Amino acid sequence: MNDPNAIYRRLGVSDAVLRFADTVLASLDAPFARVDAIAERNQAKVLLAMQRCRVNATHFNPSTGYGYDDEGRDNLERLYAACFGAQAALVRPQITCGTHALALALGANLLPGDELLSPVGAPYDTLEEVIGIRPSAGSLAEYGVTYRQADLKPDGSFDFDAIRAAIHDRTRLVTIQRSKGYATRPSFSVARIGELIAFCKSVKPDLICMVDNCYGEFVEDLEPTEAGADLMVGSLIKNPGGGLAPTGGYVCGRSDLVERCARRLTAPGLGAEVGASLGLLRSFYQGFFLAPVTVQSAVKGAIFTAACYERLGFRVVPASTEVRRDIIQAVELGSREAMLAFCKGIQAAAPVDSYVTPEPWAMPGYDDEVIMAAGAFHQGSSIELSADGPIRPPYAVYFQGGLTWYHAKLGVLMSLQKLLEAGLIELK
Ligand SMILES: *Cc1c(COP(=O)(O)O)cnc(C)c1O
Repeated sequence: MNDPNAIYRRLGVSDAVLRFADTVLASLDAPFARVDAIAERNQAKVLLAMQRCRVNATHFNPSTGYGYDDEGRDNLERLYAACFGAQAALVRPQITCGTHALALALGANLLPGDELLSPVGAPYDTLEEVIGIRPSAGSLAEYGVTYRQADLKPDGSFDFDAIRAAIHDRTRLVTIQRSKGYATRPSFSVARIGELIAFCKSVKPDLICMVDNCYGEFVEDLEPTEAGADLMVGSLIKNPGGGLAPTGGYVCGRSDLVERCARRLTAPGLGAEVGASLGLLRSFYQGFFLAPVTVQSAVKGAIFTAACYERLGFRVVPASTEVRRDIIQAVELGSREAMLAFCKGIQAAAPVDSYVTPEPWAMPGYDDEVIMAAGAFHQGSSIELSADGPIRPPYAVYFQGGLTWYHAKLGVLMSLQKLLEAGLIELK
């Protein structure tokens, strides 16, 4: 075992790629140290909340049927609330994904005649049908909720004049997406989100300010609910599930707003009192416990991706030297072929389904064809190493996840290998 690269060669990574990667890695000590420090503080933050909530082994017991008196479920919700500085939380396997959690929070807190405002430009693709930007049965638009949006300025900053002009007496809820999603704008820091919320409330104090926190949890020291958000929403097969939660979503924030979400999820009069946790609570607790270090691995993978592809001349968002706001790394590859090769590499590095070739497909909820590489323990889990993107200019691939840094690293090495083999990059 004198040659540390021998195992990588057996995995199919060439010496040219390994040499290139070593040079890139040598430049990443400072950003990695920063990521480590945040992970350490977030691990302590989660532990403090777990201790305050007196988590014990009975909290992992399953409930069935109605799920009445499910103390483990209720304590998990207290744990999320305590950790995220919120009054209340709803954390459920019955919330099927991030889009569902967002649709739930919006549907529960907007009534006919209300207007929804996005002050940060177009929302995530799947919300187009939820809101009714693209006409869709069951959308908010069908229920008489209107939508308005203020676009970001060309430099990615908030257009405060446009936001002020967009807020009027029917404006009820403001939705702010922390992560860029499938766009190449910057993701927002919690501090900037806090400023935006303060501004919106200065224009209209009773606005409900909601943050789509998907991919953001534990990337910084604070979460949006600790910076003024009334509601914060996310998916458990992203950051807070720590790679162990097999499904689920959460909503946390002001207790009156979260209570409305519970009533919308189940039924008025039932609310959060029902909802069996089945056998999932242990994975939810343990995943939350691990989430700070899972996110640490994913963020390191994102930085390494940026540094490699930047050096090869591709546009990457964010740049390798930028402070991270989420776990997503966009790489503008410029062609369909390069997207396919990149995704092939990520797939080839996977622990599960490493032998399959990802193909573009028309995914429900998305307008363009999407390519996805993932060899995950949980279907669609994007805290696990994955890469995806809509096949449209600028042919950007979105890289995210990695339950361990070493797996994320292998994914990047394999992506470089596949691009090299396809003659799409040159390594000097
Ligand atoms: C992933 C994501 C969603 C939707 O989550 P799904 O779990 O895929 O439905 C919404 N907003 C953002 C910013 C996301 O990254």
